[in-house]
Amino acid sequence: MRINQEVVDCRLCPRLVAWREEAALNPPARFRGEEYWARPLPGFGDHNARLLIVGLAPAAHGGNRTGRIFTGDRSGDWLFRALHKAGFANQPTSEHIGDGLGLEDCYIAAVVRCAPPANKPLPTERDTCIQYLVREMDAMQNLQVVVALGSFAWDGILRALRLSGRAVPAPKPRFGHLAKVGAGNLTLIGSYHPSQQNTFTGTLTQQAFDQVFAGAKAMLTKTSKRKEER
Ligand code: SF4
Repeated sequence: MRINQEVVDCRLCPRLVAWREEAALNPPARFRGEEYWARPLPGFGDHNARLLIVGLAPAAHGGNRTGRIFTGDRSGDWLFRALHKAGFANQPTSEHIGDGLGLEDCYIAAVVRCAPPANKPLPTERDTCIQYLVREMDAMQNLQVVVALGSFAWDGILRALRLSGRAVPAPKPRFGHLAKVGAGNLTLIGSYHPSQQNTFTGTLTQQAFDQVFAGAKAMLTKTSKRKEER
């Protein structure tokens, strides 16, 4: 996507620039000696996709290390296993750039593109970074369904939809697992984030996570002729 280079070169948030680089300089023992990406993460996947998945932000030692979103951490293990099962990914694992992973009819992005301390971006950082999500959504001509991984992503997507001129219901729709809301010609689906906080506690099970992508896929099949028209 054309904005990807702009994303990668971005240094608009001084706190996050410092944090992403600090993580690279002080890795945990298991990653010592690895060369970190330590820059913002562009989106990944099929630019012509009908499905967009949006997370919170890269993990300091996951995407910030490997240079690909949801790659090299436990959340990514859950996500790509589910995407493979649903037929959106050609393999169930995402370990590093060059591992052969490809997505079909699916694109993955985040509300904030740099790893934040404690996985908590500041509102000003979210508002600065949201421009990239707005532009990505505008560029995705076939987009129909957006999956929000977690409440931060849910709120960020609603904000991005409003900024891109789409009608968003008021009052603000509440986040929930498998919550659905229509916004213009798009449908937003909520999913608990596959963070260890949710997967270790049983808040999110693999079955419940698989339901999100099976549901999204069924929705695409019912509402689009994109595949047939290709
Ligand atoms: Fe730029 Fe977004 Fe990173 Fe801030 S979080 S420096 S806006 S890419």
